[in-house]
Amino acid sequence: MKDLDAATQLVHAGRDWDPEWGYVNPPVVRASTVLHKSCEDMMDRVHDEMACRDGKPCYGSYGGPAHKAFYSAMKTLEGPNAAGAWAFSTGLAATTTPLFAFVRAGCHALFSDSIYGPTREFAEQILRTMGVDVEFFDPAACRRHGVTSVIDNTWATPLYFKPLDHGVDMVVHAATKYIAGHSDLLMGVVVCNERVWPAVYRTAVRLGQAASPDDVYLAYRGLHTMGVRVAHAAKSAERIVHWLLERPEVETVRWPALESDPSHAIWKRDYTGATSLFAVVFRPEYDGRLAPFVDALKLFGRGYSWGGYESLLIPSYGTRSVRENTFSRMVRIAVGLESPDDLIADLEQALKRLRD
Ligand SMILES: *Cc1c(COP(=O)(O)O)cnc(C)c1O
Repeated sequence: MKDLDAATQLVHAGRDWDPEWGYVNPPVVRASTVLHKSCEDMMDRVHDEMACRDGKPCYGSYGGPAHKAFYSAMKTLEGPNAAGAWAFSTGLAATTTPLFAFVRAGCHALFSDSIYGPTREFAEQILRTMGVDVEFFDPAACRRHGVTSVIDNTWATPLYFKPLDHGVDMVVHAATKYIAGHSDLLMGVVVCNERVWPAVYRTAVRLGQAASPDDVYLAYRGLHTMGVRVAHAAKSAERIVHWLLERPEVETVRWPALESDPSHAIWKRDYTGATSLFAVVFRPEYDGRLAPFVDALKLFGRGYSWGGYESLLIPSYGTRSVRENTFSRMVRIAVGLESPDDLIADLEQALKRLRD
């Protein structure tokens, strides 16, 4: 599986076809109790779990066939260094639980200044009260040698960046976004290298972190079409980005595939593509005055999250403690699967409201 192209992996990885039944997809097994043939069988399964061995589950919280399929696919996609994967009830739980696996009172934990907002709040409101020294750093700074590291790779997906290949220990995705892809579930997933996997696995299990089989099934189903969805949305995004750059109201667009973007060099070095989420910075005269534009949109939904089939646009907000921000004249756009012509027409009619 590891030698196949990503497009093929998305279709085939994790699919353990059972010739007896013949179904293309894994079953969804809803389970708390798992019954065992004998005491010996029961203890074998418990020992497998304790040793982080990929055995049969001893209890429903360890997941079922859909979990197995999804984990196997995620490990394939994240590359040869992926040793284990675990799903969580939300993307946020997937970003916070790996931190509990390594961060202790007295530790110095470094967070990129551009970190996902709720993860910043977790660091400030939970980790600091536990005696952890939390520091935010400019995203341009490099990881120091030997530091245990976790990256939130939701924006790039494993298609466009594979952090484990670059020496990162843990990669987290809000599966809620591109992986699930249909705005109908919340889920997170962490994929770990061999060094950190036992600690992350034990922390997830001890904290009682589990994702429901129905959600995991949907996330796994989402993977099969993620390649075409993301590529289509990114192509539309590129057109929309270039259209926006020509608009007199727009100062700049933040999308790393643009040569003018401050992150372009790093993106070009490490990434193989850009997805359909970007930010638009308006000229200073529109500072704090973007609501009429946002409210006039008809196709773009005003709502949180992104990565679904539908386009969304929200005013930006948040905190930066290291670098200055332009949040009060910035919007975030997530381009979906609609025709880019229709989306551009919608933006055009809404921009008229801004000038009026
Ligand atoms: C949405 C998001 C999360 C959290 O996912 P939820 O499932 O909404 O909790 C984490 N990281 C990034 C980058 C996100 O966009």
